[in-house]
Amino acid sequence: MKIVIALGGNSILKKGERQSYSTLIKNIKSTCRNLVPIIMNNKVVISHGNGPEIGYLAIQNEIASVKVPKMPLDVLGAESQALIGYLLEEQLNNQLRENKIKRLVATLVTQVLVNKKDKAFRNPTKPIGPFYTKKESEKLKKRGYIIINDAGRGYRRVVASPKPVKIIEKDIIKKLVEKNIIVIACGGGGIPVVTAGGKLKGIEGVIDKDLASSCLGKSIKADVLLILTGVPYAYLNYGKKNQKIIKKMNVKEARKYLNDGHFGVGSMKPKIEAGIDFLLHGGKRVIITEPRFCADALRGKKGTLIIR
Ligand code: ADP
Ligand code: MG
Repeated sequence: MKIVIALGGNSILKKGERQSYSTLIKNIKSTCRNLVPIIMNNKVVISHGNGPEIGYLAIQNEIASVKVPKMPLDVLGAESQALIGYLLEEQLNNQLRENKIKRLVATLVTQVLVNKKDKAFRNPTKPIGPFYTKKESEKLKKRGYIIINDAGRGYRRVVASPKPVKIIEKDIIKKLVEKNIIVIACGGGGIPVVTAGGKLKGIEGVIDKDLASSCLGKSIKADVLLILTGVPYAYLNYGKKNQKIIKKMNVKEARKYLNDGHFGVGSMKPKIEAGIDFLLHGGKRVIITEPRFCADALRGKKGTLIIR
């Protein structure tokens, strides 16, 4: 089987954890251990989030700018893909060796084409980087940043979250996967690029990693989109007294639950939307669960299954 494994933020850094080298290694090691049974018997591409990491890189750039010129967000996206890709490669290689599995692993810096007329660019919503004081935020606004007041917690820069249109490196990814190479690609949703006068150009924004993973799955004709996140299932009435596990749903049911507002905006909702999109364009199965249940979920014993 050909599987796209979309790793959520907590596979890399758990909520409330400070990003340190040792914490990253610990989490990524445990994630990779969970992935081995799936990787063993399938062709896989691994995508992952980069929310906290690109945020930290933005802070480093901000603070260090008196000495080192700042880089735009697309470059920070590339840096975060390398940071996480390298650690995943290292830990996966170690796990594969320990289990005597002979497979190669490659990380690919991935660009994702977006539409420069995407309405997301007129309405940026994705918070990124540090919190600012009101005074700092006024200064940054003059430099062209769009700043919002983030739910009373302080002022924060927001960037656009455009829809992924095409994965620039899709043919390379497909070739590698078909040669049984484990590919790490589309990190952080991919680096957003637009075409201008027939040329590619990076643009500041953050693509949703779930939507990018569905786009990736479609372009390499994957069978399964395995979304690994912080919950074992998607639920109805999430967080309420009458919360109910969804074991299995089809696209029609998923759409109904979406419309009824069961899935959190910016968290579970994009996963369900990504799942529907994948299934309507050739995908066979979408599974949502926690990393530790991924092998069981693939055998239908855990997690939420979405089918056409
Ligand atoms: P990731 O980094 O994996 O994308 P997110 O935090 O963006 O993680 O999305 C997963 C989170 O979605 C869960 O941890 C949960 O808090 C939240 N969530 C919102 N609605 C639901 C739902 N209906 N069922 C399960 N989880 C939900
Ligand atoms: Mg998310």
